[in-house]
Amino acid sequence: MDNITTRYKALLDTLPEGVEMVAVSKFHPVEQLREAYEAGARLFGESRVQELVAKIPQLPTDIRWHFIGHLQSNKVRQLISTRAVALIESVDSEALLRRIDAEAERADVNARVLMQVHVAQEETKFGFTPDEILDFFRRGAYCDLRRTHICGIMGMASNTDDTARIVADFAALADIKRRIQQLCPDLRGFDTLSMGMSDDYPLAIAEGATLVRIGTALFGPRT
Ligand SMILES: *Cc1c(COP(=O)(O)O)cnc(C)c1O
Repeated sequence: MDNITTRYKALLDTLPEGVEMVAVSKFHPVEQLREAYEAGARLFGESRVQELVAKIPQLPTDIRWHFIGHLQSNKVRQLISTRAVALIESVDSEALLRRIDAEAERADVNARVLMQVHVAQEETKFGFTPDEILDFFRRGAYCDLRRTHICGIMGMASNTDDTARIVADFAALADIKRRIQQLCPDLRGFDTLSMGMSDDYPLAIAEGATLVRIGTALFGPRT
């Protein structure tokens, strides 16, 4: 039978040790999240603050929520105040990072984040370019963060059928993570490489992903 439970277990079986899966539940109703939870899922990814805030109280408290969408500055306080977000994967500007840190301090919590890096072909205004993110770390711009821990980077491959291009994008992200670790040997706990989605996650794992974000392959198409 093809349902969320069997798909969850089948997906887990494809993950090597050391790779975690975020169940990307955006746009899916809480009943479906509950089914994934019953199957064992504890890591869920949402891309809109409103939707996340509505879902949190309806589901068990041992879920670790990841925020994976574009985060507007004026939503940061609401997101942090849930106290339920384990990782903000989509920090796409230094201004947003500062805002998160300020709000975490205000709420007296620690924030954990990934820096979103843009390597894909498509034009987007979201994410640091490779040059920008290397410059950020070269400048030591993370040193004065008070309540925010940068745990690694997140990225996406080009939206294409060209496997070579996808592999090159993932390799570029892995290379950026390595270069940051070389630039900043004092950086502790900078080890997460979040890349790979339903259609391309095995390629991402082959290039060094430690976290894959899977929506459609688990929950089916979003409506
Ligand atoms: C929606 C989304 C995913 C999941 O995509 P699928 O193709 O449905 O697996 C992964 N990452 C991000 C950032 C997303 O917004």
